[in-house]
Amino acid sequence: MDKAEKNRLLSGLPSVDEVLKNPDGQGWLSLFQRTIVVQAVREVIASRRKDILEGSATDLSPAGITSDIRNKIASLSSFSLLPLINATGIVIHTNLGRAVLSDKVLSHVSAVSGSYSNLEYDLAAGKRGRRHTHTKRLLTDITGAEDALIVNNNAAAVLLCLSTMARGREVIVSRSELVEIGGSFRVPDVMAAGGAVLREVGTTNKTHLYDYENAINDNTALILKVHQSNYKIVGFAEGVPIEDLVSLSRKHQVPVMYDLGSGCLIDLRPYGIHDEPSVSGIVRSGVDIVTFSGDKLLGGPQGGIIVGQKRYVEKIQKNPLARAVRIDKMAIAAFEATLREYSDIENAKKEIPVLNMLLQTPEEIRARAKKIAAALQKEAGNADFAIFRDASKAGGGSLPEVEFPTYAVSIKPAHISVNELELRLRRSTPPVIARIKDDSLTLDARTIRKKDIDDLVRVVASCLSSE
Ligand SMILES: *Cc1c(COP(=O)(O)O)cnc(C)c1O
Repeated sequence: MDKAEKNRLLSGLPSVDEVLKNPDGQGWLSLFQRTIVVQAVREVIASRRKDILEGSATDLSPAGITSDIRNKIASLSSFSLLPLINATGIVIHTNLGRAVLSDKVLSHVSAVSGSYSNLEYDLAAGKRGRRHTHTKRLLTDITGAEDALIVNNNAAAVLLCLSTMARGREVIVSRSELVEIGGSFRVPDVMAAGGAVLREVGTTNKTHLYDYENAINDNTALILKVHQSNYKIVGFAEGVPIEDLVSLSRKHQVPVMYDLGSGCLIDLRPYGIHDEPSVSGIVRSGVDIVTFSGDKLLGGPQGGIIVGQKRYVEKIQKNPLARAVRIDKMAIAAFEATLREYSDIENAKKEIPVLNMLLQTPEEIRARAKKIAAALQKEAGNADFAIFRDASKAGGGSLPEVEFPTYAVSIKPAHISVNELELRLRRSTPPVIARIKDDSLTLDARTIRKKDIDDLVRVVASCLSSE
């Protein structure tokens, strides 16, 4: 393309003002914020100008330009963080926001944060109060611990505890527990950040009580046990039961801390899950400090819970770092409302979405899968739908080897590829996140909530209907 031709095309482009004055422009201005409309028009015209100058192929028709501006406005005016439908069956999906909160919990969060609140004000005494009082009693009641504190997340809780209890001194950890949780939480790194000196004992597969005992010296500040969370060492493997570590710690007067990771508040044994300790069980065994996440098996907002002996929790609370990792009022409101549900375990299993989704019976899930498949059959053509038995995972590094029996809907599209369907679902409103399995698209009904079904069916039908 020669220079004269480029100039001719450039002068044919509308100006921003011209676009804003035409009927489309006037329509957009009546519906969207002016700054967004102006930015969209500018960006689309600028990109056409660039194409012309570079000699790249570009659609200069008014209809093409209008349609690009419309899409640009839509993307500029929509939120980046969006609700979506999780059809993966993974209940505590870290990439998809971990624990879902109930409407009841959310309405309390909304009431507390849409107003002033007594966050740090003691209403009875009429003077300054502490933000931790709102959840302390609930946590000590549920876990049986003497004292409790919540910080921003469990990584912060571990960091804060190490920095308070072991700065400049040694912390004994088994080599089998030097874990990486994901998102760059690695035990040795957190140890270094907390100013503690890691004293590794044992081997990857076996650590004995005498390994711990031999490592204790005058500079030992803490014995730390870390839940292996997202992996398991099987075969010729052995660790030290927490009760034995507690006895050892008493004998040598060194405190013991357990980073439980997920932190389950209920007994999962009736569900056939035998190796996930409950927080109250660990507290009862005599561990001095226990830390766990708020948004894993507990089913609350993001937070790191520290429970244990008062003399340690008080010291932890006074660490200057505690202020840097403190929890905000929305999370406190969500914790208080979530923890209240635990006063009756049967109620908690019903009202807390994480527990509800994990502990549903396969029959309940099957009924929902059938309902989804029937609606899809009716509303969406161009595909084969079937229900099949599958297994879902807890996720979030929780219960890694437990498979929860589930039912899923499989979709085999007739005119588009499975990959194309997966992509279209992901880019829909709301986005639907699904897995591909055996050349068909799989919607695990475990994490598809009743209120999601209408949207899900509409989105799938629309994705299947266009070529
Ligand atoms: C998940 C986990 C953490 C990190 O907790 P966050 O709340 O995500 O910060 C730390 N330790 C263990 C063992 C975990 O499983």
